[in-house]
Amino acid sequence: MADKPIQELVSCMGQPVAGNPTQFMMERAFEDCELDWRYLTLEVPAENLKDAMAGFRAMGLRGGNFTIPHKVEVIQYLDGLSEAAERMGAVNCVNVVDGQLIGENTDGKGFVQSLKTVLEPAGQKVVILGAGGAARAISVELALNGVTDITIVNRTESRGQELVDLLNNIEGVHASLIVLDGDYEVDDDVNVVINATSIGLGDADARVPLDVETLSSDMVVADVVFNPPMTRLLRDAQQRECRTLDGLGMLVNQAVIGFKIWTDVDPNPAVMREALEEYLEI
Ligand code: NDP
Repeated sequence: MADKPIQELVSCMGQPVAGNPTQFMMERAFEDCELDWRYLTLEVPAENLKDAMAGFRAMGLRGGNFTIPHKVEVIQYLDGLSEAAERMGAVNCVNVVDGQLIGENTDGKGFVQSLKTVLEPAGQKVVILGAGGAARAISVELALNGVTDITIVNRTESRGQELVDLLNNIEGVHASLIVLDGDYEVDDDVNVVINATSIGLGDADARVPLDVETLSSDMVVADVVFNPPMTRLLRDAQQRECRTLDGLGMLVNQAVIGFKIWTDVDPNPAVMREALEEYLEI
């Protein structure tokens, strides 16, 4: 129809995980904001990323999310990076500005936004279990938001050390590594404990290697795992009267940030969370 606005397209490239909750959430938010936009999920094998990025430009996509296995490899096909994405060496969100493809990383920002609902990050002492993509995004963003003391607890030493070295290059940050050996015991003066491993994904009873008896009620305990959102760690932390943050909050917040970057419109986070819960049948 001639008088209908042209549809804008954004896409998610990577391996769709657990169906497509993000597409469902984004399309619901477009509808709620009366934007005639579409969000597509495109499964792109690693060896086709170069061609897919040429297609991204050729088709005039307005932006996109990038997930495993493309978060690092996509950087070589972009024209610029935000500070956070450059430090992390990983991109999960691309915005098109005057024809230039700019890489962002909204995962860590989404987490920090969740944290700020209960605590200002500046000056806090943080323990992060895991050293993969989620841990990297969260820890860099926390450091850029004034967290000065970060302990990375990881099973694989080399991966943990690489993240610690990256964090220690950020001014004012002291990061250290603990290699997992049995249950990790949290020090009394820690303010925030984050599970950024994939333990708990798809298994509400999976146990993170952490001595929950060392959690105290003045700590904030967060989990990146969003399906199921009420993980065993969060249940244990609630029993110990800690304040808790689930992975759904982070997922919604990173989507809110991406939506705003692409459209310049503020979506309603409550609508997006509701869509996610509906999709995940929570
Ligand atoms: P990665 O594969 O990059 O990293 C996984 C991390 O978990 C590694 O540090 C790995 O340790 C650790 N790990 C996995 N299994 C075990 C185990 N049995 N014992 C000890 N450590 C273990 O994954 P991502 O960082 O990309 O994702 C992690 C989780 O975060 C996933 O569940 C993902 O769904 C979630 N996520 C949530 C988001 C949200 O918005 N809520 C956004 C992004 C991710 P090692 O280095 O030793 O292998």
